[in-house]
Amino acid sequence: MPRILVTNDDGHFSPGIHALADALRPLGDVVIVAPQTEASAVGHALTLRRPLRVDHVSDGVYAVDGTPTDCVNIAIDQILTHKPDLIVSGINKGFNIGDDVTYSGTVAGALEGALLGFQAIAVSQAYSPDTSDFTASATFAARLAGKLLKHPLPMRTFLNVNVPLGVIAGVRITVQARRNHITKVARREDPRGRPYFWIEEASDDWELDEASDHHAVNAGYISVTPLQPDLTDHDALALLQSVIEHDL
Ligand code: MN
Repeated sequence: MPRILVTNDDGHFSPGIHALADALRPLGDVVIVAPQTEASAVGHALTLRRPLRVDHVSDGVYAVDGTPTDCVNIAIDQILTHKPDLIVSGINKGFNIGDDVTYSGTVAGALEGALLGFQAIAVSQAYSPDTSDFTASATFAARLAGKLLKHPLPMRTFLNVNVPLGVIAGVRITVQARRNHITKVARREDPRGRPYFWIEEASDDWELDEASDHHAVNAGYISVTPLQPDLTDHDALALLQSVIEHDL
């Protein structure tokens, strides 16, 4: 029986993580190790300067007062009795597409899995304040998980899945979209007159790219993007070699 570790960044109480775990259970033994409180947009943060606590919430469900990356490491090193065959992170409430994957705790959960040498998938669905129906994304995640268990990806490659709401047009293998990064920071004053700052959602302006995750989900397709942890700009290597190595 395959062993599947499930994590997320929305917290162990999130309906998305339980929909995901329920859909994966026919495939193997599922254990949830997820943040105690919401850890969205913490990226790949690892907690190194304070102790971490683990709560055994219920049968097969553990809560860690840390990040998704903390959860994956504590799960593998301390909680699971055997190494997992697959790590699935999600289902996040809200897309994790394009450049935004770099902020995503959901994607980081899968990234950490890939770095540690495991098969890994991140799953997110379109945000809607009143939607608690994760059926389409959970069903697809389970189908994809079944495929990965039979046909593993190359080492360090993991999948970022985004599922739109409504009728699904199909599945597209995509690349990360690019968007502008105009981030608004609101400045207000606390009751004692001291300023505080709040990062606000800014207007999103996406570059048109028909191969992208952004384009796919907006056309009603499930987007599957293969990711890997290497941020090296391989195209820039030759340029830098000529400009820096030879001139400096
Ligand atoms: Mn989240």
